[in-house]
Amino acid sequence: MASVAFIGLGQMGSPMATNLIKHGHQLRVYDINPQAVKTLVDLGANAAATPAECVTGASVVITMLPNGDLVESVLFGAHGVTKTLSKDALVIDMSTIHPLQSDAMCRRMAECGFSYMDAPVGRTSDHAIAGTLLILAGGDQRQVEKARPILMCMGSELVNAGGPGMGIRVKIINNYMSIALNALSAEAAVMCEALGLSLDVAIDVMSSTPAGKGHFTTSWPNKVLKGDLTPAFMIDLAHKDLGIALDVANQLHVAMPMGAAAREVYSQARASGRGRQDWTAILSQVRSISGRPDSL
Ligand code: NAD
Repeated sequence: MASVAFIGLGQMGSPMATNLIKHGHQLRVYDINPQAVKTLVDLGANAAATPAECVTGASVVITMLPNGDLVESVLFGAHGVTKTLSKDALVIDMSTIHPLQSDAMCRRMAECGFSYMDAPVGRTSDHAIAGTLLILAGGDQRQVEKARPILMCMGSELVNAGGPGMGIRVKIINNYMSIALNALSAEAAVMCEALGLSLDVAIDVMSSTPAGKGHFTTSWPNKVLKGDLTPAFMIDLAHKDLGIALDVANQLHVAMPMGAAAREVYSQARASGRGRQDWTAILSQVRSISGRPDSL
């Protein structure tokens, strides 16, 4: 069993640390909130007064903190982790932070001779309690394999995201999509209300279309991802349908800022000569306006 230092015992960290204890690992914990520390001590963990004390003798160090600046200060501050960390230990940051800040910390740790990887989590505190988090592991192969048995005490699924920094990248992009889609879904639901359409009917219909299933697994695989932009559904027609929905929303005083922004992208695609291409050519369009290479 490993000697694990766990720093950050909040909504997520507390149940994650609890699950490590349940799996028989020896835990030393640190949090600025004494009550959070006491909860874990009552379950068998040892308390530390500083991050440096917490990681003394630990083979694995986990940080689960609100933001990147806190992770940085816990690692490199006056009483930080790097003051006492063993060169054989593995530091796993499981917080959701800025990927470029994570890269910088990974580099700085490596320069000091320490091993650091990112392994943020998907799902919620209920899953943290149940030990069924989705773990998105960034790190080299050796780090991921060393971390795997520890991480699997807290999660039911581990995705090896493909190298250092890739865990936090996929986490942020996943959250970007689901958070933005939440706002778009709310616009659609309010439109249902304004038009007197049952939301149950809408949910039923959309659970089998790209609206509910997303484009990555429905419209994209056989079209833009294969380089085929011959139209199954043309950009011109998509632009027309989006316009109808926005006109209706306008008449009914429904706010649709997400839809309005999307219409601009479709308008730009048409202005760029893509009107008769498949609607999945929106990927090429966004590449173009981002100055990224695109051969389609
Ligand atoms: P939280 O605010 O509940 O817990 C953060 C903990 O860190 C608190 O106990 C706090 O006292 C402690 N802390 C703050 N500064 C500290 C310091 N300098 N040293 C030691 N401890 C310190 O947050 P949370 O919900 O547990 O989230 C933690 C991370 O997990 C965040 O990055 C969050 O984005 C991510 N996350 C949260 C969820 C969720 O559903 N809550 C899901 C996935 C990922």
